[in-house]
Amino acid sequence: MDKEVVRLRILASGCVAAGFAAAGPVDEDVATRLDEWVARGENAGMEYMRRHALLKRDPGNVLPGVRTVISVAFSFNPPRRRDPYLPVIAAYAYGDDYHDVIRARLAPVVESLKNEAGGEWRICIDSAPLAERYWAVKGGIGHIGRNGMVIVDGYGSLVFLAEILSTLPFAPDAPSEKRCMECGACLKACPNHALSPEGTVDCRRCLSYLTIEHKGEWSDAMTEAMHAEAGRHTLFGCDQCLTVCPHNRSIPDTTVNEFHLRPSYSSLTKERSVMFSGEEFSSIFKGSAIKRAKLSGFLRNARNLS
Ligand code: SF4
Ligand code: SF4
Repeated sequence: MDKEVVRLRILASGCVAAGFAAAGPVDEDVATRLDEWVARGENAGMEYMRRHALLKRDPGNVLPGVRTVISVAFSFNPPRRRDPYLPVIAAYAYGDDYHDVIRARLAPVVESLKNEAGGEWRICIDSAPLAERYWAVKGGIGHIGRNGMVIVDGYGSLVFLAEILSTLPFAPDAPSEKRCMECGACLKACPNHALSPEGTVDCRRCLSYLTIEHKGEWSDAMTEAMHAEAGRHTLFGCDQCLTVCPHNRSIPDTTVNEFHLRPSYSSLTKERSVMFSGEEFSSIFKGSAIKRAKLSGFLRNARNLS
């Protein structure tokens, strides 16, 4: 099957970029950087990152016999945002859970490609152990900024990444050679100095990690970070290193309606959030990425708000 036909079919799912790379072990320096990041403890409580580090070295660990990694990017740039005076909810979580949305959009495409072209195919969205930013750069859909995010030409870094693995060989696209503007605004804007100039994130200091991924109570150091001004204004996630990036200015709004701000979130206050029962939490965040924090984590965040 012609590669450009495959690309067009994938783009018709609503993603803004799709790029092809020949599968194989990742470059040694990429694997080493990941190992060093874990060894420094910057993965914080995300133990699966340690377990995945070895598996991430080769997409063959995810799909045996894989020949091609197709990276795709879906924009989530919302046409409307929450009032800045309200506690922060990261824009990626405004709408429906991206795992569900992207899988629902890509599954019929991949199914039809499989039926027509044969081979094995697999859709990966976040949970599979893949070095997804590496594959996005190698497939030419974007380059990595100093905030650690992949920047897609014309769409910035307000994008979700996903991968389609195939055992069929497709000619690879040219990898991206670009660099971000290196203005340093993301490093300056990060309220807890979680970003390194090399583009790594120390999750122990990152408000996104602390309010989304961290399970249980915060340690003393984490509490100190969350008690600072920015932490007191963060309900779920932090967009500061994205908001200040010049690559994210003048980019189009997402055309994926499922990622738009849910009406019920547009006026969600601290006062309302701290009162949630388990039933209310499940009901208002049904099908949302915010459920990831679970009620206990969400209430922990809400009680910390000023
Ligand atoms: S999400 Fe917020 S806390 Fe985390 S690195 Fe970016 S600016 Fe810093
Ligand atoms: S804010 Fe500046 S340094 Fe940071 S990723 Fe964007 S362009 Fe690069």
